[in-house]
Amino acid sequence: MGRVNVMIPWLGDEEIEAVASVIRSGWVAQGPRVAAFEEAFATAMDAAHAVATSNCTTALHLALVVAGVEQGDEVVVPSFSFIATANAPTYVGAIPVFADVEAATGNVTVETIAAALTDRTRAVIVVDQGGTPVDLDPIRALCDPRGITVIEDAACGAGSRYKGRPVGAGAELTAWSFHPRKVLTTGEGGMLTTSRPEWAARARRLREHSMSVSAADRHSELVSAPEVYEEVGFNYRMTDLQAAVGIVQLGKLRAMVERRREIASAYAAAIATIPGLRLLTDPAHGTCNFQSLWVEIGDEYPLNREELLLTLADEGISARRGIMAAHRQPPYAGGPSIRGALPVTERLTERTLILPVYHQLSEEDQRSVIDVLLAPAAVPAHG
Ligand SMILES: *Cc1c(COP(=O)(O)O)cnc(C)c1O
Repeated sequence: MGRVNVMIPWLGDEEIEAVASVIRSGWVAQGPRVAAFEEAFATAMDAAHAVATSNCTTALHLALVVAGVEQGDEVVVPSFSFIATANAPTYVGAIPVFADVEAATGNVTVETIAAALTDRTRAVIVVDQGGTPVDLDPIRALCDPRGITVIEDAACGAGSRYKGRPVGAGAELTAWSFHPRKVLTTGEGGMLTTSRPEWAARARRLREHSMSVSAADRHSELVSAPEVYEEVGFNYRMTDLQAAVGIVQLGKLRAMVERRREIASAYAAAIATIPGLRLLTDPAHGTCNFQSLWVEIGDEYPLNREELLLTLADEGISARRGIMAAHRQPPYAGGPSIRGALPVTERLTERTLILPVYHQLSEEDQRSVIDVLLAPAAVPAHG
């Protein structure tokens, strides 16, 4: 019996050839491929500017720096997210303040954000959780007049759409991840997209030690001008090896999302007949790439989440517990980031399970997952 993973990246000969050609070229650090990937990504995501980074966490850090978030400021974030969303504000000395999410999408809403704002709120990080588009427009309508910058954490969002445009296109700053758990991967990697040229220029310098002359420019001259280090910067560069993979992956994004959506529809058709299971679906305001397709296990279902995970594992199927809740982790539990109850976050983190979805998932393997969901009692239960 083969093993069914929760996710497998879709990489092949084209990516291998792209990496080989970078190695043959002799230019492997941030150089011409990174510039080409940035341009292609900006076009695909309907963004004015794109700055490649080492990962999404560093892109979020740069977003907060260029937005002017400082020591003592508050940044409203969902607890229901990978912990990097909450950690990024702490890198600039700010306090992440947790907002709850809605059950339908697992995302923050204008109401949950409004409940967490104070006079000290300087920015909000909204997340397209698992690739489900966040309803951004009302959140910007709330925050913009108050001078609060809305940053979109679209780590999971490549290929998802909001009101007919790529997610992230409506935010002033959007951070992306190319970790293998996401739909589009470069091994490790990230991107910051922005509508503001001055923020793009500063982020571009900051990711490279705030050098006044980029390494790419310096190396293309025989004798270059002396550089100045304008402020304390970082090394958040991407390599040309990664960018070459990213360019190939970007070309496959449409096909990857189509395939994931087919898989999601097949799950939806089966799960609609199962009392006690609720599957994530497209919200009215957009479409999902189904980077993470989660199911909520209700009281009417014969097993709880942990029992269902073990039952699936017995059949060689690796599902995952749902999205984490950052407010329960040691850096934040019992601390100043928790201002009110987070009931929906707690319910979803306890009761959801992420189903296997990946490009190469065969119909037969998906059928074996569905069979367990349909008849969990037929499989030996754990005590
Ligand atoms: C994966 C993820 C991140 C972190 O991305 P890295 O590229 O691994 O730094 C941040 N936010 C969310 C919502 C994520 O899912």
